[in-house]
Amino acid sequence: MTPAASRYAARRVVRPVDLAHSIGRNCLVVRWDDDALSELPIPYLRGWCPCAVCQGHGDTVRFTEFPDTIRAEELHEMGAYALAIRFSDGHDAGIYAWTWLRRLAFESEPAGWKGGAFRNGDFTDDPAALAGRAAPNWSGIK
Ligand SMILES: [Zn+2]
Repeated sequence: MTPAASRYAARRVVRPVDLAHSIGRNCLVVRWDDDALSELPIPYLRGWCPCAVCQGHGDTVRFTEFPDTIRAEELHEMGAYALAIRFSDGHDAGIYAWTWLRRLAFESEPAGWKGGAFRNGDFTDDPAALAGRAAPNWSGIK
């Protein structure tokens, strides 16, 4: 697959066909409709909470570190597009759209643990890119 085709494939709106909360492994296990399987640790999801309280009014979406002891106390689907999670610290404001969960998945480019920010629809961990200012762009994150 060409890089452009690969990027397009990564941006296709995929949906979960199966969601499971593994309490033992403290993670969310998602089987997507393109057959990918994602395991998203709950503290990792807490760190990427997209709500305004966690993200402020900046122009990037940033990861905040949370301890491994953070757990999910309740998960429920929001309509047909997202997952709501109530975390063990009481926080429940984040709406995790399927597109958001997929972008956070370790298999999504860039592969592996995300440690930067989504900027203008693309994930970046380039400090130079993060230092600039641009209008927020939440395309693909509904
Ligand atoms: Zn939040």
